[in-house]
Amino acid sequence: MFILKGIEQLEKAIAKAKKIRPRVEFDSFGRYRVSGSKGRFYRVICKRSDNGYKLVECTCKGAEKGLVCYHAAAALSLHVALARREQATQMCTSPAKETDEVTYLPNTREPIRVENYGSVRLPVYN
Ligand SMILES: [Zn+2]
Repeated sequence: MFILKGIEQLEKAIAKAKKIRPRVEFDSFGRYRVSGSKGRFYRVICKRSDNGYKLVECTCKGAEKGLVCYHAAAALSLHVALARREQATQMCTSPAKETDEVTYLPNTREPIRVENYGSVRLPVYN
């Protein structure tokens, strides 16, 4: 588990994710499964702690040691996109209805390939 403080922290992991192109599967908001190098999936959880820190958990060995892994980077790029969409919908109408229109929120378990890592922008918490 690590605390996400800014995009700089993720640069290396994002570069690796771009190279490896893991599959990211959506479970529920903040819960994702990301494919690892040996074909297994790691669970990545993105959440906000009580004191406002953004916490990212991954079940891989690296993350256990507090390292930023590419699974987390891949999941975060999706998570951030979803979070942004959620914020936008809260300003408009009922979130439940709006999220139905998010194309990558499938009711199926189809794998999602996350693109555009370069455009990922993450909020900075001090
Ligand atoms: Zn990981």
